Amino acid sequence: MPNSFLENTIYNFQKAARALQLDKETYEILKIPRLTAEAAIHIKTKNGKIKTFLGYRVQHNDSRGPFKGGIRFSEQASMDEVKALASLMTWKCAVAGVPFGGAKGGIKVNPEKLTQDELEQLSRDYVRTFFKILGPATDIPAPDMNTDSKIMAWMMDEYSHLAHKNTPASFTGKPMEIGGSQGREEATGQGGVYILKELAKAYNLRPEKVTIAIQGFGNVGYHFAELAYKEGFKIIAASDSKGAIVNKDGFAPEKVIEHKEKTGSVLKFPGAKNITNEKMLTEKVDILVPAAIENVITKENADKIKAKAILELANGPTTPDADKILDKKKITVIPDILANAGGVTVSYFEWVQNLQNYYWDKNIVNKKLEEIIQRSFAEVLQTAKVKKVNLRTAAFILAINKVAKAIHLRNHH
Ligand code: NAD
Repeated sequence: MPNSFLENTIYNFQKAARALQLDKETYEILKIPRLTAEAAIHIKTKNGKIKTFLGYRVQHNDSRGPFKGGIRFSEQASMDEVKALASLMTWKCAVAGVPFGGAKGGIKVNPEKLTQDELEQLSRDYVRTFFKILGPATDIPAPDMNTDSKIMAWMMDEYSHLAHKNTPASFTGKPMEIGGSQGREEATGQGGVYILKELAKAYNLRPEKVTIAIQGFGNVGYHFAELAYKEGFKIIAASDSKGAIVNKDGFAPEKVIEHKEKTGSVLKFPGAKNITNEKMLTEKVDILVPAAIENVITKENADKIKAKAILELANGPTTPDADKILDKKKITVIPDILANAGGVTVSYFEWVQNLQNYYWDKNIVNKKLEEIIQRSFAEVLQTAKVKKVNLRTAAFILAINKVAKAIHLRNHH
């Protein structure tokens, strides 16, 4: 069995390609990214020293539209990780029917060790370094782990300077004042909540009867928690990189984020018990939501998971070994390329609004997002039924089919 994140994503692709009887040429085109770029990113520290970091951009496939994908700042970032994430973006855009191809970027850095000025220099130098392969019709980055709207503002500004024109459509996930979209900040969580509501319906459960545990309390995890809570769902456990908290009676996510902002962690939240991240994954809950990093649900813990369903808001949280165990246990896994597609969907809306310089209100954004998520979910369910496969393989089949058709129609090689 595969045992790295990149091997896992290739394995999932191969499994679906086989089920689809994908022809060999298309298989080869899609197995290897179209372009991988690695570069040195430089900053000058406040005492005048130059520091160098490794930066990556991977463009997987652009047959359905310009490349699109977030930029991650993380000490664990590597070329293999970015390659895996770039391919997931290709499949995610196809599942959601968003007319983009897949890309991803990263810098190997611990941003907590940088000053604000150094963080800005790092962000700007990333754009200078990869300028030639970026752009609104070429490759449009967005936020991911440890990157946010402030960083997108610096990056878009740097791109606009280099291009000698104001180019808001070069980056998505920007602040609203400079071309961001209503609803983008919480879009990934919101998309997850639309799926959660469908799941509750399928299990015939009222929201207040559904208990949820969320790993990761950053952009995706927090907004998901808050929006689910507002819909009446019961959030009973949450975690961040320092550990997890649990309170069987449930808690208000907004209070937890206030506590995290004050103390630096969700730990020691009043009324909750501290537990480890590992323990939280196997708590008795209805829905488990990994919203942090890859490879957290593995053959070591899959057997102990008690949730009815796993909603993958993180990218690549479940390994193929774990998938097999979860299938056997009849635990439904809503795969990342469907579950977290809300982010790229509203990024697409942002890009459209930037190109038209015409902005939509939040109701329109959320209505269009809900339609796309519901339709994609229904299509994945239908494919799973027809092909007799699990939801991950169904989502991959759906996606590969759409990308393969685009490749054949364009007839470009
Ligand atoms: P973020 O940096 O805002 O938050 C990450 C959270 O995960 C933080 O709370 C951090 O403390 C926690 N974390 C980190 N390491 C952990 C560990 N070992 N155990 C438990 N928690 C840990 O990042 P984000 O934007 O919320 O992204 C989270 C995941 O969602 C990533 O897999 C990302 O690729 C995926 N995703 C993000 C978006 C988006 O729009 N931001 C869209 C789709 C998918």
